[in-house]
Amino acid sequence: MSDCIFCKIAEKKIPSKIVHEDDRAVAFEDINPQAPVHVLVVPKRHVQSVAELNAADAGFLGHLLLTGAAIAKQRGIADSGYRLVLNTGKHGGQTVFHLHVHVLGGRPMHWPPG
Ligand code: AMP
Ligand code: ZN
Repeated sequence: MSDCIFCKIAEKKIPSKIVHEDDRAVAFEDINPQAPVHVLVVPKRHVQSVAELNAADAGFLGHLLLTGAAIAKQRGIADSGYRLVLNTGKHGGQTVFHLHVHVLGGRPMHWPPG
């Protein structure tokens, strides 16, 4: 999608600190990190949010989650624990409407989230 910031990052039309890329996804450092590790995993295909997906997308969504888990392992936070977050829609706190998985860790997370 032409005016989507995460599509532009995935297409490398605007700069970002990419930490992983494969045929379906890219992962890059969040510009405003909320934890010592804060990486975003985004699909190359433009999808607004998980709310648009259906059963046929199970593999697509699973790939994003497993990529997040692999990044956590690579960054050394798998043993201490981490959080994978999909903010969805207005009340979910979503601000960028291109599906993304936050990988957050390197410090204890609180519950419930604010
Ligand atoms: P959300 O509130 O779940 O939609 O999260 C959007 C995230 O994207 C926020 O954590 C922002 O800090 C992050 N973000 C926005 N623009 C950029 C950018 N150009 N590069 C990296 N991260 C970004
Ligand atoms: Zn997009």
